[in-house]
Amino acid sequence: MFLPPLSKAPALEGTRRLMDIHNHISVSTRIERLVDLATYGILGVTEHPVLKKTVLDFDSFYARLIKQARNSDLEVSLVDTDVARVVNGDKEGYIVRTQEVFSGVFHAVVIGYEESIENGKPPQELLELAESQGGGVILAHPYLVNTKEWPHNGFLGELNRKRYSKGNTAENLGTLAAGAIAIEGHNAQLISLQIFNQYARAMAREYQKPIISVSDSHPMQNAEFLTGVYTDVPDNGPTMDYIISTLKHGKFSPGPSNYIPWSRFWATTLINLGNSFVHKS
Ligand SMILES: [Zn+2]
Ligand SMILES: [Zn+2]
Repeated sequence: MFLPPLSKAPALEGTRRLMDIHNHISVSTRIERLVDLATYGILGVTEHPVLKKTVLDFDSFYARLIKQARNSDLEVSLVDTDVARVVNGDKEGYIVRTQEVFSGVFHAVVIGYEESIENGKPPQELLELAESQGGGVILAHPYLVNTKEWPHNGFLGELNRKRYSKGNTAENLGTLAAGAIAIEGHNAQLISLQIFNQYARAMAREYQKPIISVSDSHPMQNAEFLTGVYTDVPDNGPTMDYIISTLKHGKFSPGPSNYIPWSRFWATTLINLGNSFVHKS
């Protein structure tokens, strides 16, 4: 099913660009749309531990752009192993290698790794693994976890405390928050649970972490660049080290706090429900 792209956020003047580091882009996305995405801002191309076969990883996205460049004026080059620069006429942008992993029930987006990190590492191990490779961990939608638990704090947290299991503990969440380079304080998927973004921002303030915004776009949504953060881009392009440092030190300003429309939320929810039945083990 083809859905037209959503309206895009305004570009700022000068070299400031919108960076949207967390997106799961469908393998069936048409090349024209991929070129548009790659030449808009700084786009995270995020592997997904469950949607492996339906989501593009950085290498396959890059390969498709290279193929397209052979038959067009598209210019594609690597800034480093994790970042590619893409130019199409007067439009220029970057795609970035990122990976989402589950740590117990919590989700994290890892950047700057040398080898893909295995899913399901305990929080401390995940943080150490990423750091040992020169990378960093972003705590993703901290209050939306696999078991669909409620937040660990406040009244609802108390009510649900008994249900905490399989590492879904305040301690594990705290370990990830303390070790993360940044925390997602606005995840555009949480249209039905916007309070979870407020909880996430409160957590980021508590742990004194930079607050980033991400679209976390899923297949069928075409909802990349709904949000993000505005950052400067050096003339020779942002290297992965530059991106890590930018996020870690909060050298950015917030982008628009949009949410995916309900129509696309439901489309994806139904697909995910289908997937979870298919993968039920
Ligand atoms: Zn997630
Ligand atoms: Zn995600």
